Amino acid sequence: MSNPGITVYGTYWCPDCRRAKKFLGEQFVEYHWIDIEQDKEAEEYVLRLNNGKRIIPTILFPDGSFLVEPSNVALGRKLGLRTRARMAYYDLTIVGGGPAGLTAAIYAAREGAETLLIERSGLGGQAGLTTGIENFPGFPEGITGQEFAERIVQQAVRFGVEILQAQEAVFLCCDQSYHCIKNSEDEHHHSQAVLIATGASYRRLGVPGEEEYLGAGVHFCATCDGPFYKGAEQVVVVGGGNSACEEGLHLTRFAKRVTLLVRGEKLAASQILIDKVTEPGSRIEIKYKTVVEAFEGASSKLKSVRIRNLESEQASELHPAAAFIFIGQEPNSEFAKGYVETDPYGYILTGHDLIDGREPAPGRPPMSFETSVPGIFAAGDVRYGSTKQVAAAVGEGAAAALMIREYLKTV
Ligand SMILES: Cc1cc2nc3c(=O)[nH]c(=O)nc-3n(C[C@H](O)[C@H](O)[C@H](O)COP(=O)(O)OP(=O)(O)OC[C@H]3O[C@@H](n4cnc5c(N)ncnc54)[C@H](O)[C@@H]3O)c2cc1C
Repeated sequence: MSNPGITVYGTYWCPDCRRAKKFLGEQFVEYHWIDIEQDKEAEEYVLRLNNGKRIIPTILFPDGSFLVEPSNVALGRKLGLRTRARMAYYDLTIVGGGPAGLTAAIYAAREGAETLLIERSGLGGQAGLTTGIENFPGFPEGITGQEFAERIVQQAVRFGVEILQAQEAVFLCCDQSYHCIKNSEDEHHHSQAVLIATGASYRRLGVPGEEEYLGAGVHFCATCDGPFYKGAEQVVVVGGGNSACEEGLHLTRFAKRVTLLVRGEKLAASQILIDKVTEPGSRIEIKYKTVVEAFEGASSKLKSVRIRNLESEQASELHPAAAFIFIGQEPNSEFAKGYVETDPYGYILTGHDLIDGREPAPGRPPMSFETSVPGIFAAGDVRYGSTKQVAAAVGEGAAAALMIREYLKTV
């Protein structure tokens, strides 16, 4: 979707401005950003539009209309996104429009199930935001995340999946014999079965340049993006836990030197990993008590990482080919917590993981991909034990849809 001519007026510190810009970015909508603290004329314009009030974000559209502090739903409607369901009741509601959710939707709708998919932001999920996917079978030259997302969405629409955007599931409940999902606008969607495919989010550092150079030198997945840096002199890894150590070791296959930036005074990983990372001859150098202050670049590419030593307060710069951030990942399962069983980190337990080592529960055992609540399934990155890759999420979406088909035969 291309909408040149949209202007977002705001300030860099305003959280609602960041949310609106993120939402537009996730919809691949072009916009012009003006920081009204840096532009007096723009500030006066915003004051004029809002009867003397300094309300931000104020978003101006090419037809001359404007929205003030819009919710994602209001912004979605203005962009022409479908935000209201056609029917009151569906066979299947899928929460999350990433690779897992969209694949499940294709399978279910193709078999004739009335399928509703709700997505809070951009379709394609994490995969849609990726600059390039090189390890998905069938695309020998790789494919951009945007094109990949557009292709799956087209396929889902072709089979009659109803897709709603700017719809955040906030609550899951049971209404008589069917399941019910409440969205942030207090609307309810009812269905026989539900698939939770809400993925996970990488924790961000929240420093300047992190969003700007995402996919252009700043990365969150070494398996996915490490091979781009074959032969690089240096890459940086931020974090000191198990995943930072594992991914750092993995990156030594590509880069000549890996610099681990650790906030604490020691690594917080398993002893085996610590031994591997610190063994003589390891190509990993560790900077303890070090934080990243900013990512800086030129021509849309990361050029330097500004760091600071917390002990000496000394600031310095590194010039790696790339920086990989591994400070944890959080499953997007908040809305389902307390309703379906999760592990202590919030990843949703399904199938065998609910049975292993426990007394048999009354009733039938959960099917594969089924959660602790019959009829509610989970697939993809949000599921406990998932492997956090596009191909795996697609496979889980397909397998979950086939299980849901079996479930629908019983109700
Ligand atoms: C920068 C980056 C690069 C990557 N590169 C690769 C790669 O090259 N190869 C590879 O195999 N993997 C890659 N990955 C990993 C891959 O993208 C994920 O494993 C995959 O997208 C997971 O799919 P999913 O459908 O389970 O979840 P997601 O892709 O996370 O999709 C979940 C969707 O659910 C939505 N959602 C969440 N909560 C709610 C809610 N409450 N209501 C409504 N909607 C909600 C989210 O907005 C999101 O769109 C990359 C990941 C990142 C972040």
